[in-house]
Amino acid sequence: MNFEDYKGIWVYIEEQEGVIAPVSLELLGAGRQLADKRGVELAGVLIGNRVKHLSQTVFEYGADTVYVYDDPIFEHYRTEPYMYALLDCCQKHKPEVILYGATPTGKDLASAVATDLPTGLTADTTMLDIEEDTGLLLASRPAFGGNIMATILCKKYRPQMATVRPKVMKALKREPGRTGKVVEERIWLREEDVRTKVLEIVRETTKKVRIDEADIVVAGGKGLESKEGFQLIHQLADVLGGAVGASRDVVEAGWIDHHHQVGQTGVTVTPKIYFAIGISGAIQHLVGMQNSGLIIAINKDPHAPIFQACHYGIVGDAFEIVPLLIEHFKQALA
Ligand code: FAD
Repeated sequence: MNFEDYKGIWVYIEEQEGVIAPVSLELLGAGRQLADKRGVELAGVLIGNRVKHLSQTVFEYGADTVYVYDDPIFEHYRTEPYMYALLDCCQKHKPEVILYGATPTGKDLASAVATDLPTGLTADTTMLDIEEDTGLLLASRPAFGGNIMATILCKKYRPQMATVRPKVMKALKREPGRTGKVVEERIWLREEDVRTKVLEIVRETTKKVRIDEADIVVAGGKGLESKEGFQLIHQLADVLGGAVGASRDVVEAGWIDHHHQVGQTGVTVTPKIYFAIGISGAIQHLVGMQNSGLIIAINKDPHAPIFQACHYGIVGDAFEIVPLLIEHFKQALA
């Protein structure tokens, strides 16, 4: 494999119903830094139906080039057609790095591409860097239960690929009017050759809380003692207009759904304000919230590790403090 043939940093641009996933814009920000350090182009790969116009957004968030596969066969995400498009693009234009959001779609696509290309894939990356002279991608992620950060290298193959967690990288400030080169590509795939069919789309009707998008997250842990005790977390979140987060132990106890779990095996959140109530502050929890703007911890144990990770700490009983906070905020926000 001649490494000289592989150039440029790529970001897979995830799109659904005409909207680009926020993680793709975050990855353009991270990708821009890698591309500048390496002195190469940053490109987005956009696959979908009637998506060409989204190239402009991709440029405005930092890309120099957008490879577009625009065809009705890409109307809904399906592994096969998207994989063939990305493989086609790799064969023609040979990138040295491809980044994907660690979303269900990004993970599915990246792993499918990695099984076909003779290369590796680092999953769930939380830090990225690149060696300026060799182009070696340094993809770091928590390992061994979150106790260490492992930096994973792909020394022998190209492209180097990584999925990156949403909300970990920062998107660049949008630069309206910034343009670049659109490269339109095609693959000759017929609908009858695709094994997966989308028969129906069932939209979730329950009110699903997007804790990864909330400005305020009120998270509770086992210190709330029971599902009933955990209602205090819901009440405080309601008063503040925030979302509810939880530690894994709370999810495992069945007090709340897994969508709310914050941490290494849950979601990563970076709200403006994060309340950690009755949460001890295990490393696996901290990796999912430590970049929040303001962290306020309430715990009755003054030695709880969460106090090492918070901006403000209140040592005391959640069952006394939280009702007072609810009352206070109710009055203040009335
Ligand atoms: P505990 O550790 O039991 O802490 C409860 C806290 O509440 C204590 O600090 C206690 O002092 C305090 N408390 C008790 N009563 C009160 C009261 N009345 N008022 C105020 N404070 C009180 N965990 C996650 O959260 N997210 C993850 O994604 C995650 N992934 C993991 C992945 C792996 C591979 C492993 C091994 C573990 C993972 N964990 C994860 C579990 C993690 O290690 C901890 O076990 C978990 O975070 C502890 O949850 P907790 O803080 O709610 O409970």
